[in-house]
Amino acid sequence: MFCPVCKSEYVEKYTRCEPCNVELVAELPTGESDMKEMVPVLRTNNQPLLAIFEAALNANKIPHYIRGGEAASLMPTNAVVVVPPEYLDTARGILFDAENSYDKEEPEA
Ligand SMILES: [Zn+2]
Repeated sequence: MFCPVCKSEYVEKYTRCEPCNVELVAELPTGESDMKEMVPVLRTNNQPLLAIFEAALNANKIPHYIRGGEAASLMPTNAVVVVPPEYLDTARGILFDAENSYDKEEPEA
């Protein structure tokens, strides 16, 4: 049994999470399963582009999640931006704009 609020796991005999004052549930309705259904829209180690894209996603209120970007400061690893499938087309359009604006910001060689 799990508390849907604090995510604590309880043994079977409990039915409530006292600190949260809520009924326990058999399974957490987690982001985990939602996350599995999310689809990648961008895979990159281009941190500036990633930042632009993420800001644009936030500005457009597109739910998204970035996997694997944290280690980028030590060693560039590809970060993967995933979005729910229903937002994929919108996110791709935003990515297109983000790539365009990134290109424009690049200094002339
Ligand atoms: Zn709780």
